[in-house]
Amino acid sequence: MTSDQQPNRTKKVRCCIVGGGPAGMMLGYLLGRAGIEVVVLEKHADFFRDFRGDTVHPSTLEVMDELGLIDGFLKLPHQRLQKMDGLFGGTPVRIADLSRLHTKYPFIAFMPQWDFLNFLREAGRRFASLEVMMSTEAVDLIRRGETIAGVRAKTPDGIIDIEADLTIACDGRHSTVRERAGLVVEEIGAPMDVLWFRAGRKADETESVFARVEPGKMMITFDRGDYWQCAYVIAKGQHEAVKARGLQALLDDVVRMAPILRSGIADVKSFDDVKLLTVAINRMARWTRPGLLCIGDAAHAMSPVGGVGVNLAVQDAVATANLLADKMQHGCPPESDLDAVRRRREFPVKMTQRMQVIVQNKIISGALQGSDRPLKVPLIVRLITALPWLQGIPARLLALGVRPEHVHSKAAPAA
Ligand SMILES: Cc1cc2nc3c(=O)[nH]c(=O)nc-3n(C[C@H](O)[C@H](O)[C@H](O)COP(=O)(O)OP(=O)(O)OC[C@H]3O[C@@H](n4cnc5c(N)ncnc54)[C@H](O)[C@@H]3O)c2cc1C
Repeated sequence: MTSDQQPNRTKKVRCCIVGGGPAGMMLGYLLGRAGIEVVVLEKHADFFRDFRGDTVHPSTLEVMDELGLIDGFLKLPHQRLQKMDGLFGGTPVRIADLSRLHTKYPFIAFMPQWDFLNFLREAGRRFASLEVMMSTEAVDLIRRGETIAGVRAKTPDGIIDIEADLTIACDGRHSTVRERAGLVVEEIGAPMDVLWFRAGRKADETESVFARVEPGKMMITFDRGDYWQCAYVIAKGQHEAVKARGLQALLDDVVRMAPILRSGIADVKSFDDVKLLTVAINRMARWTRPGLLCIGDAAHAMSPVGGVGVNLAVQDAVATANLLADKMQHGCPPESDLDAVRRRREFPVKMTQRMQVIVQNKIISGALQGSDRPLKVPLIVRLITALPWLQGIPARLLALGVRPEHVHSKAAPAA
């Protein structure tokens, strides 16, 4: 990435959001709705990414409801998941039952993330003050003394300087903006990575089991209509070893664990069809600089455990708009006001990451180490399976998270 080239144009906005993922697109929508002049920069030409986390939890569905977007949103093709069942060393277990929740939308909606992001983009077109610039990559920060005053970005038409009172980094776990601002993350660590691939699904293939754990192996399968999305969990650093064993050995392991994939696995023809997703858990102690705020994965990368990262990113966006939209009407709030977002969101992030680390250390690490002895179902999982009323607790944590956010930022009067 280079910032040596000189800009051929300059644009001035109140707020520049870098990154059109769940955090950036939701925040763009909320600030546009509040009448704030905001631009969202997304480096890709579209939202079509092989993997971006496709789970929309009840907390996000409630936000969509509060924004009056839910009816249109739920018309998009999706699958609904209420009961999460697993096989732990062959023993059936129930991990969570969302039907026990007192929430308007007691299910997880599985929807390709590009559909979710495209939906927000289309819904946001009604706001004259919101612009989404695709194929536009922030490559450096503009500084005015100690203050971040916008970004320099690469576009298909050359370099542009986007001067902004406030820059918000929503550019994900490898955030360029964070790095350029000299903000650092504290790594918490994860013992695993994920191999991500698709296997064809026939219309009559159904199965309620979505998680399978065996000595040395773990796999999740999601029914995505015409295919099974598979996440095969490996110990961190073992990708090369898996490749060295060969594709057939991997596919044999997969089918042994999930016989339902027997015919569809033929879709995986080479290791090119198997993507490595590197798992990280980290967070920043400081989310701000004068003129700059980081949210979503840019401030705290989440483990895939629980599939909550997209929803936390959305919750960060809602909190940011709640706390700052009014104050941004007249310029950039002082850094102490920007830091209110960290003060509000740090507790839910820390609690969620703590729970993810417990699952990683107590369940996933143990399973991945493998042994010839039969796998023992952890006590907590046995209790949850045996006592159905307990299934509401993991369901609540998964569905609504810790301290769910609700939309309080105002909508500007229609023009
Ligand atoms: C293996 C794995 C599985 C996961 N599974 C799930 C799941 O099932 N459900 C779930 O909720 N979460 C899941 N997560 C977590 C989830 O993907 C993230 O927490 C979530 O996407 C964070 O959203 P975000 O908007 O902060 O960042 P991102 O989704 O990373 O979006 C950042 C955006 O910024 C853009 N960008 C980056 N740099 C620049 C730049 N310089 N200029 C302009 N644009 C830029 C990127 O193209 C991207 O669109 C998983 C994570 C992993 C690793």
